[in-house]
Amino acid sequence: MISVQSASALAPHPERAPASHFEQLGLIEPLLRAVQSAGYERPTPIQESAIPPALRGDDVLGLAQTGTGKTAAFVLPILQRLTESRPRGRGRAASGNGSAPIRALVLSPTRELASQIARCFADYGKYTNLKHVVIFGGVGQGTQVNELRRGPEIVVATPGRLVDLIDQGLLDLSEIETFVLDEVDRMLDQGFLPAVRRILNVIPRERQTLFFSATMPTELEPLADRILFKPVRVAVAPVASTPDRVDQAVYYVEQPEKRVLLVRLLRNPEITRCVVFTRTKHGANRVAKYLADSGIQADAIHGNKSQNARERALAGFREGNLRVLVATDLAARGIDIDSISHVFNYDLPNEPESYVHRIGRTARAGAGGSAIAFCSAEERGMLSRIERVIKRRVPVLNARSLGTAQA
Ligand code: AMP
Repeated sequence: MISVQSASALAPHPERAPASHFEQLGLIEPLLRAVQSAGYERPTPIQESAIPPALRGDDVLGLAQTGTGKTAAFVLPILQRLTESRPRGRGRAASGNGSAPIRALVLSPTRELASQIARCFADYGKYTNLKHVVIFGGVGQGTQVNELRRGPEIVVATPGRLVDLIDQGLLDLSEIETFVLDEVDRMLDQGFLPAVRRILNVIPRERQTLFFSATMPTELEPLADRILFKPVRVAVAPVASTPDRVDQAVYYVEQPEKRVLLVRLLRNPEITRCVVFTRTKHGANRVAKYLADSGIQADAIHGNKSQNARERALAGFREGNLRVLVATDLAARGIDIDSISHVFNYDLPNEPESYVHRIGRTARAGAGGSAIAFCSAEERGMLSRIERVIKRRVPVLNARSLGTAQA
């Protein structure tokens, strides 16, 4: 049985002792420089708790959702351990038969998250010589296979495409030293556990394993028990606690009126960059089109869009050329974009936990943010369930008294 200590003990707390500096975590100079150029002043609580044991080579079970800084908590130790222990007796050049001495493997449930993790390897590893490759489905495999031939030490992958490549004998994972499973609860939801088990069969038993998940459903416990050896358990910000810095509000509005209300609210110039969540892909397209027809820059991302179209929309959003991104939960999972000023729950989610994930997209890394929900008569039950889980009432705003500056 995996028992996880009370999350609140490690959650960010006003009375906490001041956080340590990155130097105190034992990071080497090339990583300290990269962290500094990323603009980080201090480690987040998950980084403070997970980096030292991960650097020692211990297994880690981390309960943390996106927005806590969990990616750096495993990327930095991997970069450091690989830099400090160059493999002996092995040529670093590609062997020509498609196999490469891959030493760290990170599995992620979605291609967006995999790309973000890869970006972190690039950013935090920019003063090291380590190479990484990102592998996911939905695009041709040719480029990815070519990159594997260049002999990367690190592979970030979604499980499905990775198993395809393993089956074709295109990569050798027999020298993995560190194995990371990120957002394992999502992997479970998306039916990836059989693929994860296949991958476990081809990596060494003796290795370091870092296991990160926002929640720990009972179905995950056997897997965690099996693959982790005496893990150090760290936990921050339990999923049921909404970030304190997010101002929440709800409008009672019927479904057909929602789009008009959204356009009125978007007149507020304080809404500089926002994500609008819809329940369906169809809904996302409809809302994005209505906004565009109303003269508001908007684009939709969801699973039916091509990888290129999704990446274009995300890049436009990241660079500030696109003000409104309309997304389904799955597509928005792990969007790592700072300074999202507002999150709109255009449709309320079926799962209260999704509400917490959604509003966690704003108020990241210390900033404030607002989350505005639209609740139709049919959605009242969902709102009550959300309020039970987040243990607070969401203040109600009146759409009729809406001035142009209000949002
Ligand atoms: P993550 O939880 O890994 O998705 O990270 C959430 C966001 O926090 C990302 O935009 C990171 O760039 C940012 N971040 C990570 N670590 C720190 C830190 N120590 N200080 C400030 N921002 C950070």
